[in-house]
Amino acid sequence: MRRLGIIGGTFDPVHTGHLIAAEEARDVLGLDHMMFIPARIPPHKQAWCISDAKHRLAMLHQAVDANPMFSVNPMELERTGPSFTVDTIRAIRTGYTVEDILFIMGHDSFHEIETWFQYQQLISLCRLVVVSRPGTPPVQPEHFSESIRRLFPHQVISLDSSSKRMDNVMTSPWRICFLIIAGLKVSASEIRFRVRTGRSIRYVVPDGVRQYIIDNHLYSEDSGGIEGNAYSAHK
Ligand code: ATP
Repeated sequence: MRRLGIIGGTFDPVHTGHLIAAEEARDVLGLDHMMFIPARIPPHKQAWCISDAKHRLAMLHQAVDANPMFSVNPMELERTGPSFTVDTIRAIRTGYTVEDILFIMGHDSFHEIETWFQYQQLISLCRLVVVSRPGTPPVQPEHFSESIRRLFPHQVISLDSSSKRMDNVMTSPWRICFLIIAGLKVSASEIRFRVRTGRSIRYVVPDGVRQYIIDNHLYSEDSGGIEGNAYSAHK
């Protein structure tokens, strides 16, 4: 495989915003495959009740299994100890023959990148594709911290997914790409809120995921969850 895309997250639940972002990045950058890697949440971070890993994994399978270009990799869930993205990318590099790895994230995640464990190494091991996320402010070059400017000078590009597919882009040595997509203003927290308050989640999650949520009584008042700020697991 030449170019592998990876999207990590809590996926509680996976939603159409994730799927569109992954597909847009795969399509515009000509990636061969996109892997969804759900994060392991350490027990002490579960105060606000993130769903059990088995449910998050099952919903991901419901969402992506029909697409041969997409797959789910449970490696972080199976690992003990902290779940650092940089370790995941190293493990993928060891376990797969792949020329280029691209890690896909939303603007909101990129705003926090410098809090991620060994983020400089991460950006050296894989390229970052930062997709626009409606409702979160875009990252402007002037927002780049000094360290990113210093470490990756001239290695940041911007693309618009409405332009035609650009295979030649991949041959240039960029490390961070800002990709404007026709995204969806949807979040997992909003979906959980909708379920709890009896609102519709049709079309904001794939049908199989919606049915799974219903069948397993996820996110309802009596499922024991209390809403709070989402823990960002990819650090
Ligand atoms: P929560 O609302 O619980 O914080 P979330 O919707 O942000 O969840 P995550 O699983 O935390 O979902 O997100 C995984 C990755 O997908 C992150 O990099 C995030 O920025 C990105 N992402 C999530 N939703 C969207 C969206 N609607 N458009 C683009 N990127 C998204």
